[in-house]
Amino acid sequence: MVLVEKTVEILRKCPLCDSCLGRQFALLGKGVTNSARGRALKLIAVMELHQRHLSGDEQARKCLEELAGNGVVFAATILGKEVTERGCFICRGLMSRLDELARQALPELEQHEYSTFLVGVKMHGDYVEREDKLRAEFQLEYGESIKGEFTREVGKRLAALTGKKADLEKPDMIIIFNLVENRVEITPMPLFIAGRYRKLVRGIPQARWICTECGGRGCERCNWSGKMYPTSVEELIAEPILRAAKGLEAKFHGAGREDVDVRVLGNGRPFVVEVKCPRIRQLDLEELAKTINQHAKGLVEVTGLKYGDRKLVRRLKLMSERSPKKYRAVIEVEGPVSHEDLRKLEEYFKDRVIEQYTPRRVLHRRADKLRRKKVYEVEVKPIGERMFEALIKCQGGLYVKELISGDEGRTTPSFSEMLGRSARCIELDVVEVGGEV
Ligand SMILES: [Zn+2]
Ligand SMILES: [Zn+2]
Repeated sequence: MVLVEKTVEILRKCPLCDSCLGRQFALLGKGVTNSARGRALKLIAVMELHQRHLSGDEQARKCLEELAGNGVVFAATILGKEVTERGCFICRGLMSRLDELARQALPELEQHEYSTFLVGVKMHGDYVEREDKLRAEFQLEYGESIKGEFTREVGKRLAALTGKKADLEKPDMIIIFNLVENRVEITPMPLFIAGRYRKLVRGIPQARWICTECGGRGCERCNWSGKMYPTSVEELIAEPILRAAKGLEAKFHGAGREDVDVRVLGNGRPFVVEVKCPRIRQLDLEELAKTINQHAKGLVEVTGLKYGDRKLVRRLKLMSERSPKKYRAVIEVEGPVSHEDLRKLEEYFKDRVIEQYTPRRVLHRRADKLRRKKVYEVEVKPIGERMFEALIKCQGGLYVKELISGDEGRTTPSFSEMLGRSARCIELDVVEVGGEV
């Protein structure tokens, strides 16, 4: 059926605004709005009927009358009579309020810094139901959804009003028009800042550690701080970032973690800080690094701050498992060790697979399971008769203290096992973490 006949057929039965009519043919013709499509269809339909009417076609006159009340004002002009217009069957006037609705989002949007946004809509199901009913009745197959048109058109208006860009992939801001509750919901997407940290002293946990005695309420043991340690890598890095971005909450993600008594030196460990609901997104990252480093007063140091995204957080987890790490350990042995012992140790642990059950010291919070991790290389240097230093390059996720002690046979082979004497790690530093952020 030709478009014009279809249009007349629909409009005789159903009052539709320009947008809702045009939307039923949205896939036909490009570069025009549905409103322009609808208006064009109505105009052509009316011109066609007018022509037939002028040549004496009574049926055409009747059609014009029907259309006049169903959203086609210019049909009424031809007939020279007043008609009471019926509201649009599908949108009930919604599509004529787009400018007004877009403006409703402005006051809150102005409080945020952002460059891109994505528009969404929550509307009553009956809009879609009415549209579906119309499409089924008139076998319309070139339409798009009312939600699709609404979000695109409101997005265009917002872009014009704010000078910001719509972005479907990675928006800074999500703007939901909740038509059910008649409000606009604005959610800034999290901001991700990545970098590497060095932990220059022992005695600081990576994550904030809630006091096990009081569960964070504050007690004598924790000196009423609610924490086991006064500070943590997390607090020292995430708090200044949170303040700078004026967000609600900050989450710290590290590529693996070190024990409280282990330093992180060398190139440092990759991390990402995720700031929820940031008001500021354009940060001077160099300045921010300085602030963090000054505030951390030689405890922790960050380098190479840059912007990241959610994917990076996932990559960080994989990185901690897969990337090689290098440790420096100071080891004390029960009884003297010879140069020959140490040379054998180096040789033996070249590309050696270690079988390791969850260390006893973390069993209370981790499931007991067997890991197989590789030691790539061990380089040793004697310090005294019963002490030596080892540079250990291994796969991420290996428990190094247990590689040395053997953890009562739960890690095998181990340094203790190889030396035939109990060995113990008395100092440990991470000196290299592989992987890029
Ligand atoms: Zn409508
Ligand atoms: Zn406490």
